[in-house]
Amino acid sequence: MASAVADNPRDRRLITLAGVLPDVDGAGMIVDVAKALTSGQELSFDYYAKFHHVWCHGWPAAILFTAALAFFARRRWRVVWGCLLTFHLHLLCDLLGSRGPSPADLWPICYSEPLFHHPIWFLKNQWRLDGWQNRTIFVAVLLPALWVGVKKGASFVEVLSLRADRVFVGVLQKWRTQISTGGGAGE
Ligand SMILES: [Zn+2]
Repeated sequence: MASAVADNPRDRRLITLAGVLPDVDGAGMIVDVAKALTSGQELSFDYYAKFHHVWCHGWPAAILFTAALAFFARRRWRVVWGCLLTFHLHLLCDLLGSRGPSPADLWPICYSEPLFHHPIWFLKNQWRLDGWQNRTIFVAVLLPALWVGVKKGASFVEVLSLRADRVFVGVLQKWRTQISTGGGAGE
């Protein structure tokens, strides 16, 4: 999505970040683990459950993150729209498929938290986080994403490292050439 909206690595990174940032409210898990380790008590996920999907999964966080990210952008308005898009795609994916192991472990989206308690959105048929639906979507999205990398000369790896991305895209393009010429003779 970032590569469809932005034409430079910096803006693509910012837009991608906006799609990942909502889950920083899951950082309470680190506190939970630290608490269990230092106190010797059994591991509970109190902080994780209390803040995850609450603090950064609503419109207040969308505005905050988007404003902060757009500040660093080259093409500001494009990044604003791109960030809002990937942020809300994250929420949609969570709403559809982030359930826990039992059918009652539904994760709601509290779209106005932490400012207001309503609305709270549930999906009764929410599928499991590790369900076949998510794995299918992963493969279905990965293949076109690799194709974008080959076509545009920049893939999602650039979020981590531009140098690693050049190597990665180079390998993909070599494969494409080999496939289109019907084999890897001479390589
Ligand atoms: Zn999330």
